[in-house]
Amino acid sequence: MSGTPGEHDATTDPVDTTETVDPTDIAESVDPTDTAEAADPAGFRPRVPAAEWDDWRWHMRKRINTVHKARQWIRLTSDEEKAVAGSAGKYRWSITPYYASLMDPDDPACPVRLQAVPAPGELTEFPGSDVDPVGDMYYRKTNRVVHKYPDRVIMLITEACPVYCRHCTRKFHTTDVSGTYFRDDEGGSFEEDLRYIADHPEIRDVLLTGGDPLSYQDGKLEEIVSGLRAIPSVEIIRIGSRFPVLLPQRITEGLCEMLARYHPVWLNTHFNHPKEITAESAAAVDRLLRHGIPVGNQTVLLRGINDDVTTMRTLMTELLHIRVRPYYLYHCDNVTGVSHFMTSVEKGWEIMEGLQGHITGFGVPQYVLTTRIGKIPIAQPYFTPSPDGLRLRLRNYRGEEMVVDAAAYPITEPDAP
Ligand code: SF4
Repeated sequence: MSGTPGEHDATTDPVDTTETVDPTDIAESVDPTDTAEAADPAGFRPRVPAAEWDDWRWHMRKRINTVHKARQWIRLTSDEEKAVAGSAGKYRWSITPYYASLMDPDDPACPVRLQAVPAPGELTEFPGSDVDPVGDMYYRKTNRVVHKYPDRVIMLITEACPVYCRHCTRKFHTTDVSGTYFRDDEGGSFEEDLRYIADHPEIRDVLLTGGDPLSYQDGKLEEIVSGLRAIPSVEIIRIGSRFPVLLPQRITEGLCEMLARYHPVWLNTHFNHPKEITAESAAAVDRLLRHGIPVGNQTVLLRGINDDVTTMRTLMTELLHIRVRPYYLYHCDNVTGVSHFMTSVEKGWEIMEGLQGHITGFGVPQYVLTTRIGKIPIAQPYFTPSPDGLRLRLRNYRGEEMVVDAAAYPITEPDAP
């Protein structure tokens, strides 16, 4: 279905991506049962029975993708409404009721809201922006396998997500109505992808990503994971999923039990703001950990959302509270439709200075750029040799410096005595 990316129809079974569904209704579909409440903006956050709230499929069916539905949760500004109208036919939007419940109904600068509700900035093309700045298309070997590093690959197994994050690096693939990285139908066979991995025994680590791989039903996901586990050279299976943040109810005991049958399985998620750490997300992480699945976090540095030291320090320390290890802090790429979230690299350095040494070492993520030649660490130097190589300048987290003889910490192997 090239050029017609798969999507979950909010009015039918939302999660069976083996059968991809026409995505074009996403921007316009209205659940008629919602309109009465939509007429009453004072009725934010409709009460939902616990049995439905705890069921991730209910959230997928009830995703918010119209102004009418959004008005049940937040007081939309005219800018937001214009952006929704302007992005119709261009970018999808979809918000789970769970994630909507974290939004401030009255504050358009709410960091959750900014990640989920279209904004005018995404319709402006910035100089140097690109739909694929990390080079997925360049390194793609099969419909789904991207082989960029020698010993590991990513498998883009879907285009579907529970929420279409406005800052998605793969916005062209996930959110752009007419974009896709897939050469063939998303729901087609995985045979060629698995064969490529089996035929390259140097691949020992496979990251399932997308879109969000957990958009699949457990059965289909198990087919993919078991297919990978049957390849003797694949040692580690990793899953990149934002479900623990956007819809933690998806992390069921059943899902965790299934994944645990194929260990070692790791999961990296994507918390960007302390508001996203809730009792539900903590419980989802706990379920993963109790099944032996380590959970790491990748944060994107986003203008207006988390571009200050206090927010980042709180986020990293609260992640440690729920036993999620901060992994990367990504500099926001100049992705078409995302550029308005970019900060300066200087801002990133300021934040890293505010983390390094101020919180426990394993709570400090690595600050990186993602590029076509791989991830580039961009932390400021704490260890600088002098031009003549005779001295070293060392700097601590408070900015205090000392100069030592280079012989104290030889950079090259010293001659044997
Ligand atoms: S869940 Fe991940 S892949 Fe999907 S839109 Fe959000 S950031 Fe992009």
